[in-house]
Amino acid sequence: MKAIKIAIDGPASSGKSTVAKIIAKNLGYTYLDTGAMYRCATYIALEHHFTENDVDALLAELSKQPISFKKASDGSQLVYLGQRDVTLAIRQNDVTNNVSWVSAIAKIRKELVEQQRRIAAKGAIIMDGRDIGTVVLPDAELKVFLIASVEERATRRYKENIEKGIETNLETLKDEIAARDYKDSHRQVSPLKAADDAIVFDTTGVDIQGVVTFIQEKAEKLIDTK
Ligand code: C5P
Repeated sequence: MKAIKIAIDGPASSGKSTVAKIIAKNLGYTYLDTGAMYRCATYIALEHHFTENDVDALLAELSKQPISFKKASDGSQLVYLGQRDVTLAIRQNDVTNNVSWVSAIAKIRKELVEQQRRIAAKGAIIMDGRDIGTVVLPDAELKVFLIASVEERATRRYKENIEKGIETNLETLKDEIAARDYKDSHRQVSPLKAADDAIVFDTTGVDIQGVVTFIQEKAEKLIDTK
């Protein structure tokens, strides 16, 4: 049995991270949440009041406070910036609503993509994001692009936010998700789009287990035949 690389891309709240985490656990694979990395960069930018003109300063801060992932006692993944646990902080609205301008900066993407490829080099990886199948791991054996209606995605994020104690309004969430999709799909560098060889799967009305089964069956076939 050989290890493969799995790329899961798609717009905001399309269920990528939820299913990727479950599949990683089932297959014993490493899961990398690349969105969390762009969120960390955004967190630093907001903390230092950086703008698009302070990219070098932002990169310097990122090298002083490297992004890392640790396992919590309950098995969930924690996100660290240097010694600081920023797992919850990077999910707050101010980060979510600013991440698109930070992630559109070519130099930031270059740095984070290098870090992502280093992590993937060991193989047996499932990574989720916007440009995994197109840019980060174009040689991934399995590429899936998850989509779902804006209404369904906003409702999912709304429920998630309530569970995390983050206050939100459903209509505002719909507008924010649509705005983020637009910015992520229309940026010049590595825009959100399905790779030519990705399987596009519409998860509207499909539950989490349904999406997990769909992807995992394809992964297992590839793993067995390698
Ligand atoms: O996946 P998540 O919603 O946490 O991602 C946050 C943001 O990070 C996205 O809206 C996008 O701007 C950026 N991102 C990206 N490329 C990735 C992953 C995320 O540009 N591979």
